[in-house]
Amino acid sequence: MFSRILSGDIPGEIVHETDRLFVIRDIAPKAPVHLLVIPKTEQYANVVELAAEDPALLAEMVAVAGDLAGGDFRLIFNTGEGAGQTVFHVHAHVLAGGLSEGSLGD
Ligand code: AMP
Repeated sequence: MFSRILSGDIPGEIVHETDRLFVIRDIAPKAPVHLLVIPKTEQYANVVELAAEDPALLAEMVAVAGDLAGGDFRLIFNTGEGAGQTVFHVHAHVLAGGLSEGSLGD
């Protein structure tokens, strides 16, 4: 699904792109800033697989999240259906702005 946004098959706002990843705005934002940082490869279903196979790509995702968040931010990788993952193409949620201090809630 995310790859279809990258290719332009379905609409989405691409806010940043590098050789290996791209960033879109989440369609259902949970914070004033809610971005998704997504590797271009569909090879990794979740962050555990990504960390094991390509830690440099994971590090690039974290660096880009920090650059784009515009200040303090929360980085979330839902991992598995039971944790709310719905798209099995690894992606980081970057939430920023108006976060309740010390809370993991939405
Ligand atoms: P997850 O539930 O962690 O797998 O995250 C999937 C995220 O993708 C959800 O937060 C959705 O709101 C978001 N999403 C689904 N479809 C789109 C879309 N077309 N454009 C942007 N974000 C989307």
